[in-house]
Amino acid sequence: MTDRDKTTLLAGWVLDGSGEPARKRVMIEVRNGAVNRIAPLEHGVQPREVLDFSADTVLPCLVDSHVHLFMSGNGDPEVRTRQLEAGFSEVLPKIEARIRRHMGSGVMAVRDGGDGRGHTLRFRQTVAQEKFPGFAIRAAGRAWRGSGRYGRLIGRPPAPGKSLAESIETSAAVEKPDHVKIVNSGLNSLLRFGKTTPPQFSREEMQAAVCAAEACGLKVMVHANGQAAVKSAVEAGCHSIEHGFFMGTDNLLRMADRRVVWVPTAVTMKAYAEALAPESREAQGARKNLDHQLEQLRKAKEAGVVVAVGSDAGSLCVHHGSGCLEEIRLLMDAGYSCTEAVRCATVHGARLLGVDHVGRRLTPGRPASFLVCPGDPEQLPDSLYRLKAVYVQGKRLEIGEP
Ligand SMILES: [Zn+2]
Repeated sequence: MTDRDKTTLLAGWVLDGSGEPARKRVMIEVRNGAVNRIAPLEHGVQPREVLDFSADTVLPCLVDSHVHLFMSGNGDPEVRTRQLEAGFSEVLPKIEARIRRHMGSGVMAVRDGGDGRGHTLRFRQTVAQEKFPGFAIRAAGRAWRGSGRYGRLIGRPPAPGKSLAESIETSAAVEKPDHVKIVNSGLNSLLRFGKTTPPQFSREEMQAAVCAAEACGLKVMVHANGQAAVKSAVEAGCHSIEHGFFMGTDNLLRMADRRVVWVPTAVTMKAYAEALAPESREAQGARKNLDHQLEQLRKAKEAGVVVAVGSDAGSLCVHHGSGCLEEIRLLMDAGYSCTEAVRCATVHGARLLGVDHVGRRLTPGRPASFLVCPGDPEQLPDSLYRLKAVYVQGKRLEIGEP
């Protein structure tokens, strides 16, 4: 859009992010970077100059609510070790390339789940705004884990002699993270179906940690698989459960009740299943874990749990950008309609991140930030791989190949 004051688009279909069915043949009037009016073509005053997207679908920009920008999805163990050891100057251009991949897939906001050296938070605090002004990053910096427990790659244990809550409070003042990430369980077993690990922190420790984070104005995202680890995090008042494999129906009901957001990252198991030798026990285990997670998603939909799309991009064979699109597909495989899946990948994520300029519902008065995908909504999510345009606050972005 060259004229930022007023531009009008004709969209073939609009998914506004509310979860309502698509509206057909709609005029979108953009003024000063915001949506001024959305009206059906027959009722609108036909402007002389209109950007014709009449064969395309318009929807809000995507939000990936769980990524690790310091890593790629590369599955080569040597490459992954190098990535873990990289210094800030080495990782910086790589983070930039990963952000471009997100943008090329229509993802304009990400929530980072942590890295062991705090590179992504440093990137967000130093160069991100200048280099990627339309792209929002919310970063945890270094996560928290129990001493001697899983999570070394992305986090640290509380400082010696200090509780988790005290450590969060002290470090928040110095590091200034955007949210707090706590690892409260281990990984899923690929060999023993449904085997879970005990919580890393007690309910009391979690409760005090959430209070400390909230006192610093920060939300808490908790990595938790299994019934006990999820239950204690939800009851402690955390804001989102990450992964949540094998959490069970009681936890889903608890989360629906308390409006705790679930970020299921189902694509991680699909990626494992595809990366491992097809007939191996591990690949079969990953497939079973995936199926179980999709079953939990069906129950979550029924129970009214708020689900946000997060890919865990940067974990093994989950790629930045495309991982988010694959997770949308998995939600649809689990029974979410296309419009419901889009709401999970836009509005729910934007709310969780506290981002306003992208990912919000397309409605008058809100920022004119949206994607244009070829074809009708039936083509989603595949058409997101062939984005025609990305607009952020009324401005068309240059996007590279995803
Ligand atoms: Zn993660």
